[in-house]
Amino acid sequence: MTIITRFAPSPTGILHVGNIRTALLNWLLAKKHGGRFLLRIDDTDQARSREEHVDAIRADLAWLGLHPDGEERQSARFDIYEAAFQRLVAAGRIYRCYETAQELDLKRKVLLGRGLPPIYDRSALTLSEADHAAKAAAGEAPHWRFLMDHETSIAWTDGIRGPQHFDPKQMSDPVVRRADGSWLYMLPSAIDDAEMGVSDVLRGEDHVSNTATQVQMFKALGAEPPSFAHAALLTGTEGKLSKRLGSLGVDELRAEGIEPEALVALLARLGTSDPVDPALDAAALAASFDLARFGRAPARFDEADLTRVNAAIVHRLPFDRVAHLLPEGMSATAWEAIRPNLTQVAQAAEWWRVITGPVEAPAFDDETRAYLAEAAGVAAGLDWTNDPWTALTGALKETTSRKGKALFLPLRQALTGMDHGPDMKTLLPLIDKAEGVARLARG
Ligand code: GLU
Repeated sequence: MTIITRFAPSPTGILHVGNIRTALLNWLLAKKHGGRFLLRIDDTDQARSREEHVDAIRADLAWLGLHPDGEERQSARFDIYEAAFQRLVAAGRIYRCYETAQELDLKRKVLLGRGLPPIYDRSALTLSEADHAAKAAAGEAPHWRFLMDHETSIAWTDGIRGPQHFDPKQMSDPVVRRADGSWLYMLPSAIDDAEMGVSDVLRGEDHVSNTATQVQMFKALGAEPPSFAHAALLTGTEGKLSKRLGSLGVDELRAEGIEPEALVALLARLGTSDPVDPALDAAALAASFDLARFGRAPARFDEADLTRVNAAIVHRLPFDRVAHLLPEGMSATAWEAIRPNLTQVAQAAEWWRVITGPVEAPAFDDETRAYLAEAAGVAAGLDWTNDPWTALTGALKETTSRKGKALFLPLRQALTGMDHGPDMKTLLPLIDKAEGVARLARG
């Protein structure tokens, strides 16, 4: 059986870290099994859906490297929903209701006041055809509820949460369609999953009770429910879903110098006890992806972890992946020399300035200036193509009494203007010879 997963965002805003994780987990699950990953745009709510968000969702997935194998849009599928809806109405599984929001609210309060679950009392089921006709004549349009089957208990084995049981008698018949004909999320989603052959629905645990309802919808539609898995929600470092986490999206992370590979590597493991694998190729993450590794405890998203994983990724990024982001003229050798010192690709520009100059060295005392003048003389005679740093420091160790920090630090400071930085052995050959000699002589 082909594994088909889907990511089904509503284009009512940007994707935030939580949605991105859902998209990624679905991608990983599909890729692990050589299956298909679908993007389904849940745009039944036409008042709140925006085309710019649809474009941004596509662009974000592309940036992350999560390329869908197909795209569907709910707004193009209203005929399909209508047909399925009519069948369910004819079968008595969808019925008309007329309660106003205020009436429902009151009923809920009464039930809660008696310590009962706030479940719709199905009073609309007692209406006769004459009652419905009278409502229609009075211009009252119904909204529509799905009739839960109280006789069949609901159970599934969740890919993350294990065996799940729900008593349908404890569940309200959900409204599936509003009086103006517009759709609520639940039924179109089940129709689509059934029609598109979605084999695995993997989403956040905030959907667990929706799943219980949708299991019955699949059956009412004559379809086998897919496999379900519900991931524990992400929390911020403070232990709850922070405001920042709820709004943090790709644009902001990219502006902070986060590489897509870092976000993918971290989110692929968050919520498992597995260590983060800073893999450049998400296919490697897919190979080791396993739903059974996910726990039920909330997954903590720590931006400090993301920064660390980002550095590990930057240290591995090959030149051809970053060349277009690097300063003009910077070579692959220079990138490889500088890369271990970066936590973000953009910082390469700072080191490139150190290589090309001019640099500003600190004010040295007379003794150090004399030492640097001697170093400049030695440097001028060196073969720059053959490890000039080892040759330079080796010669100076012989001719001066300096060693350790006293030997190395003034050279580094004069050559780079900094106290720390990339390994001088790899850095020095990148500095033009005449420029290097001049920097030492200027000391
Ligand atoms: N559009 C729904 C949401 O964003 C999809 C949920 C689902 O995966 O079924 O919550």
